[in-house]
Amino acid sequence: MLKNAPQQYKVALYVRKSSESEERQILSIDSQISHLRELAEQKGFLIKEIIEDAASAYKASNRPGFDLLMQRINQQQIDIILCWKGDRLARNMTEGGKIMDLLQEGKIKGILTPYQHYYPEDNILPLAIELGMAKQYSNDLSKNIKRGNKTKIDRGGFCHRPPCGYLNNRFEKTIIKDPDRFKVVKKIFQLMLTKQYSMPQICTIANEQWGFKTRQTKRMGGNPLKVSTLHKILTNPFYYGLVRNGNHQKIGNHTPMISQGEFYKIKDILKSQGAQKPNEKMFFAYTNLFRCQECNCSITAEEKIKYNCPKCKKKQGAKNPKQCTCGFQITKKIIQKGRHYTYYRCTKKKKLANGRKCSQPCIRKEILEEQILHHLSSINLHTEFIEFAKKALDLFTAQENKQKGLKQKKNQQKQGLIEKQLINAMKMRMADEISAEQFLSLKIELEKEKRFIQKNKIQSKDWKKEAKQSLEQVQNIRKRFLNLSPKEKKTLLNKLGSNPTLFNQKLLPDWKKHYSIFSSLQEAKTYRLESPLSQSISDLNQCEKEHHISWWSKLDEVRTFLSTEKQE
Ligand SMILES: [Zn+2]
Ligand SMILES: [Zn+2]
Repeated sequence: MLKNAPQQYKVALYVRKSSESEERQILSIDSQISHLRELAEQKGFLIKEIIEDAASAYKASNRPGFDLLMQRINQQQIDIILCWKGDRLARNMTEGGKIMDLLQEGKIKGILTPYQHYYPEDNILPLAIELGMAKQYSNDLSKNIKRGNKTKIDRGGFCHRPPCGYLNNRFEKTIIKDPDRFKVVKKIFQLMLTKQYSMPQICTIANEQWGFKTRQTKRMGGNPLKVSTLHKILTNPFYYGLVRNGNHQKIGNHTPMISQGEFYKIKDILKSQGAQKPNEKMFFAYTNLFRCQECNCSITAEEKIKYNCPKCKKKQGAKNPKQCTCGFQITKKIIQKGRHYTYYRCTKKKKLANGRKCSQPCIRKEILEEQILHHLSSINLHTEFIEFAKKALDLFTAQENKQKGLKQKKNQQKQGLIEKQLINAMKMRMADEISAEQFLSLKIELEKEKRFIQKNKIQSKDWKKEAKQSLEQVQNIRKRFLNLSPKEKKTLLNKLGSNPTLFNQKLLPDWKKHYSIFSSLQEAKTYRLESPLSQSISDLNQCEKEHHISWWSKLDEVRTFLSTEKQE
């Protein structure tokens, strides 16, 4: 373990290119560095130096980078080494010996790879194995090349729908310029940077003077530029090179359209223009939760306002102040005082297979909400019953934990044994009692066993906690739902359902499986609830067991579902 704050260490990355097939390895050294940078960031290290060796060295003499590293360590300018694997650092016994000496003397305070950490106070044998076993080289090489390829895709930032101005090259998994749009979108950025134009003005110029159309796909596109689309373009960091990959952000390989500086300049310009993301002011609880069953588009919301002109009493629906046909100026105040309605409707973005547009009508918010409440009642469970079910779950798991404990103990014993065997093998190898090949095959075998045990360990997760949380989730859910804020309502519905749809103003819910199993537990509340659980399942008398047989089996179903789901 490291005793000081991570920033206090003098950290070097050491990477080495293999001489085998230079071309194929170029990416590998890149990815070594990027992975090690990530490792350093994780640990909170500041990287002082990156040291690189180009040559492969079975001979100890031909590595200027390695020599430099040793020199830095001896002069106490570096005390932590990050490397991809021990086999990068040293590939023969002489070099391995040097490193082990420096570590034991404490001149090296730690050697870290993405998989292993070695510190002076640790047993030296595992490091010796990693450093000394040059024979495994050929095995590792093929693995590392595979890793290099994977990184290429990661770093290339191939994504399935690149933004306007770019296209996918599906064969090479790269992103290329859209020959029809790249230049136009770039001109749009430049126009914005002049600060002379508003977003609607830019849309007009793009559509009318430059003939801009969004990219035509099978069912979408071919449309003129809208303000909302323009806003998305102007605020998308992809245009200066950033690619999102799950939770990671990386600089992609595509040609950026603007610089990062320009991106932030535009952000400021938009702010000064008071531009808001359309609809940002209104939050609708039920958007993007449901799909239209007819055309599979998502359901969106819209607010409508109705009021009468105070002078001529004509019905009005405009959201912004304007003059009525009778000449009366309608003010903001009049509009605010009008009746506001929220409608939910299909976005109808895609054309149906027969070329027609989706025919689904819109639905008033109140009617939709009523249906949601109705469906929530179906998975509503009462507090009394939930307490009861929790106790039952405890009983279910007590037995399971007992078995788990036994298994864990066994696993620990097994693991200890394997480690002993490894060290023994190492000793035998050092005393030359077995050949390098014999040692290697033994080592591979033992490590395979070790991994198997560790894998088993990871799989046994605590499903009970989740079952309890899920039970609490549906506790008096109907009543609770009414008191939630729109945002909380959305979050809750997202948790409960997987793919609900709307058809002819009817909501067709699709609760996630364990919630629907819970809902069938409702019937249990008709049974006598006072303490049917004595000390354990086996203590239940026959009568009670029969009485509660249906929900016992339901609870068991939930348990099976949750515990197997976690393992996949
Ligand atoms: Zn539709
Ligand atoms: Zn009027």
